Amino acid sequence: MLKIHQEPIIQRIKSKVAQQKGVELYIKREDLIHPFVSGNKWRKLKYNLEEARAKGLKTIATFGGAYSNHIYATAAAAKEADFLSIGIIRGEELANKSLNKTLQFAIENGMQLKFVSREEYRKKSGSEFIQKLNNELGDIYLIPEGGTNSLAIKGCTEILDNSTKEFDYICTSAGTGGTLSGLIVSSKDHQKILGFSSLKGEFLAKDVEDLVYNYKGTQKKNWGINTNYHFGGYAKTNDELIRFIKQFERDYSILLDQVYTGKMMYGINDLIQTGYFKSGTKILAIHTGGLQGRTALLSSDRS
Ligand SMILES: *Cc1c(COP(=O)(O)O)cnc(C)c1O
Repeated sequence: MLKIHQEPIIQRIKSKVAQQKGVELYIKREDLIHPFVSGNKWRKLKYNLEEARAKGLKTIATFGGAYSNHIYATAAAAKEADFLSIGIIRGEELANKSLNKTLQFAIENGMQLKFVSREEYRKKSGSEFIQKLNNELGDIYLIPEGGTNSLAIKGCTEILDNSTKEFDYICTSAGTGGTLSGLIVSSKDHQKILGFSSLKGEFLAKDVEDLVYNYKGTQKKNWGINTNYHFGGYAKTNDELIRFIKQFERDYSILLDQVYTGKMMYGINDLIQTGYFKSGTKILAIHTGGLQGRTALLSSDRS
């Protein structure tokens, strides 16, 4: 139902640091999978849209902030698969402002936006709020914030396949941990799955443990979460990160974003440099996409 635009390829990143330390670094270009439903969002939406269709539902509703990659991707995916879509956006005050590029794109793709207060938004997974939505909007297929549920995890298990089984480490950036959970579920026992949290805080490990367990009772120990590279928290950035991303883009002609993939690549590079991976290790980084969220700091000058 959702079409693959380009099969994700695996590319070698021949960095000086990797060569010095005798490790091999590769990147799987999930960002190429679709021009608008990029990376892990394509994986997470695939089975959810199939489920909505199977249930005979015509409208997809989901949640997000004003810059959300998930809102952007859901709008495009719903349009392509012939669903109506509703985006419930955090921040009542935004209703009276001109829309940013993310929300503009969502509207252009037919998404209806509903702005709610931060307080109301916090209650969004409660049964009362959901009942109210159903009353207001009719029969809808509801996808949680960030798109993470069991069907999303199922979609993310498909990021790994025959072509990835030789890698020792699989790395991904993490927000809700849905993508990381999919990778854990489908990993080989000899592999280690490493998530780089874009958010400050230590809650993610417990969330992922639950997500993995709730997915067919899976119990695996071959994974970890690194919380050292959030750069101050979600959507926070600094000059060093921006410089790193620009240099990476110049060296390898692969774009990164400053919210997720940039922090992961910075983290991987730093771990290689500090000797975290032993010589001979083969590392695969997953490029989860999200390039719609690149800051103007990255897009304008390339110096
Ligand atoms: C949404 C997003 C993530 C986070 O995915 P989770 O499954 O919520 O952990 C990572 N990278 C990019 C580019 C994203 O857009």
